[in-house]
Amino acid sequence: MQERKKVAFYTLGCKLNFSETSTIARDFTKEGFDRVDFSEEADIYVINTCSVTENADKRFKSIVKQAQKLNPDAFVAAVGCYAQLQPEELAAVDGVDLVLGATEKFKITSYINDLSKNDMGEIHSCEIEDADFYVGSYSIGDRTRAFLKVQDGCDYKCTYCTIPLARGISRSDTLQNVLDNAAEISSKGIKEIVLTGVNIGDYGKGEFGNKKHEHTFFELVEKLDDVEGIHRIRISSIEPNLLKDETIQFVANSKSFVPHFHIPLQSGSDELLKKMKRRYLKQTYTSRVEAIKKHMPDACIGVDVIVGFPGETDELFLETYNYLANLDISYLHVFTYSERPNTEAVDFDGVVPVNIRKKRSKMLRGLSSKMRSVFYEKQLNTERTVLFEDENKEGYINGFTENYVKVKAPWNPELVNTLQKVKLTEVDEDGLVRFEFVG
Ligand code: SF4
Repeated sequence: MQERKKVAFYTLGCKLNFSETSTIARDFTKEGFDRVDFSEEADIYVINTCSVTENADKRFKSIVKQAQKLNPDAFVAAVGCYAQLQPEELAAVDGVDLVLGATEKFKITSYINDLSKNDMGEIHSCEIEDADFYVGSYSIGDRTRAFLKVQDGCDYKCTYCTIPLARGISRSDTLQNVLDNAAEISSKGIKEIVLTGVNIGDYGKGEFGNKKHEHTFFELVEKLDDVEGIHRIRISSIEPNLLKDETIQFVANSKSFVPHFHIPLQSGSDELLKKMKRRYLKQTYTSRVEAIKKHMPDACIGVDVIVGFPGETDELFLETYNYLANLDISYLHVFTYSERPNTEAVDFDGVVPVNIRKKRSKMLRGLSSKMRSVFYEKQLNTERTVLFEDENKEGYINGFTENYVKVKAPWNPELVNTLQKVKLTEVDEDGLVRFEFVG
């Protein structure tokens, strides 16, 4: 009897990539493959790449090396954003056998009838304009929460960003499909769903393959809140100009949506926001934070910010620093600007030296950890619900409250993937929150 083949996956980048890897992995299982961990020997290794990750090329090469060490005869395939943007570069990496672009990645199982190694990586790529159709996906089994893809691509033209070049135009899943996927996920015992996409606030555009908006993000949120059996729904990230008051008020009174918003800001200088071609200025951003805190004073607000963008003088950086320091927000994700091929910003004047970029990044990360502990302190003595994760971390179990406070307790397998009512008691030396069970 022929032995079942083994497949392993390595995912770089965002929640969207993780949801797509999980969907592709389910296709392999349907084709009779056994999924193994990437640290194990496999017959085929699939690497889902990212174009935003710094040093994406170095990371990719080291992951291919890792696979080759485990099984030098294994077939290595690359998919994802980097594979769409730089297929030749990836195909030339020693050990790579197949590179699939945005239109082919979900058809990978039709490219692997013959797993014998190729001298040079075989490329099946496309013009990004061809990637105008939508493929649904969600992650399950990899973590305590499921990443549910609702939208793909982006029609914005931010001057530092390659994502529209890697993922194509903005398009959405049908509302019914999203609701079906959500119900399917909750029927598998998953307690939390994280909505993901590239520009999810633009949900509804291209739902039926045209440019029209059939539904809005607000309608999606409303309908999802009615799906039976879902305990918690988290909005992964949403553009400030697309986060409407009605959505904020609905989340504040909803059954399942949690009071946690992640809103990209990128800069606290209107001058730089214009150069970035962002679709809002500071005033709009401030109004979003104020609207959230008005309806949900304990909501958690995470902020993406880029440091070192061309033209960011010391004064403009300090403007960003002070703006952030005076906002009622909870933590920052700090990205150091790095030049990306085929973006407008690559040709901009006022290039910031790399050592200055690093210094500014360090300053904002310092500010972020201060913000997080202030936010955590404010939550002490409040009662929350924690969803416990499934990993024994050096004898401890972690979990997150609905407003994204990370807690820890001595490892107890009975807590895994359960929702528990707790009272937050103290922030311990490693910045995590201790609690006592209530009720
Ligand atoms: S909104 Fe801007 S930064 Fe975000 S994916 Fe679209 S182009 Fe890129």
